[in-house]
Amino acid sequence: MKIRTRKKPRPLVKLDAIIPRLAPNYPRLSEMKQDAAKRQRGYIGEKKVDYYLDNLASRYTIIQDVCLQVNGKASQSDNVICGKHAIYLVEAKHFKDKIIFNTNLRQLIRSDGTIESGFEYPITQIENQQFHLQNYLFQHNMPDIPIHYFVAIADPSTIIEVAGDEKELAKVVAHGARIPSMILEKEQVLADAGQKQLPDWKIGKQILRDCIEYDRDIIRQYGIQLRDLSPGVMCPECRLLGMQRVYKGWKCVKCGLFSIDAHKTALEDFFILFRPYIRNSECMKWLRFDSKNIATKLLRDFGLNYDENYRIWRL
Ligand SMILES: [Zn+2]
Repeated sequence: MKIRTRKKPRPLVKLDAIIPRLAPNYPRLSEMKQDAAKRQRGYIGEKKVDYYLDNLASRYTIIQDVCLQVNGKASQSDNVICGKHAIYLVEAKHFKDKIIFNTNLRQLIRSDGTIESGFEYPITQIENQQFHLQNYLFQHNMPDIPIHYFVAIADPSTIIEVAGDEKELAKVVAHGARIPSMILEKEQVLADAGQKQLPDWKIGKQILRDCIEYDRDIIRQYGIQLRDLSPGVMCPECRLLGMQRVYKGWKCVKCGLFSIDAHKTALEDFFILFRPYIRNSECMKWLRFDSKNIATKLLRDFGLNYDENYRIWRL
């Protein structure tokens, strides 16, 4: 059973909310766009691999997008699969064209010649996750659970090459479609070797309880000031920022689209970028209109609760 499903990662949600609100000449805009594109590519890759891993959901306990804190350090894993005889970590990697794993130097080289070394080497990365999870299980009185890992190459058309020990690498790296059967094979090997059965559901529930939401302080990372972000409601059709408030909705001055609820995305942006509450006056400023009554109506309809003491609307 899948007990935690993947959502769009919060850092990506933030970047997608910030980028259209910055001036085109904002100094670090292109860097942020690259960051967003990389995260988007990763997210698509994870979803592709999820499609295959779903085949295991009827047998094992699957927890997607796991972030656990151990000794003050957080580590994130794309997938933690609790099997009957072991826990499996599956990390999705999304690359175009061709990738070369150099097993001796522990480097990943992309076909365009870029070297991703050190911690970016997928095996090193997932070994660190394995170590982290081991520590976590140890701290929760589950010290003897074997943890195995796989690196899933998301795109079936990506060519995987190996410089070095191809046989060893092929045991843990494969295209996403192959991973479920590799896990089943591993389970069989462990069962044949007499590895005792695990309470996979119980372990899964414990991990789920301790999962935190992976996040990054994008605002601070890029040194963004509140005044750098343009307020306004974005047109869902042509992406113009600054729809006009008209009777019972919003109208785009560029493409003419009328929308009843285009402001909802803008409010979500506010909450994810700033804080989980808003004042009436802030709402009017952020959505760019001038009516206290309408602000009250929109915020109430959004499902917020009014706190009379502080005169704020809470999520
Ligand atoms: Zn428009």
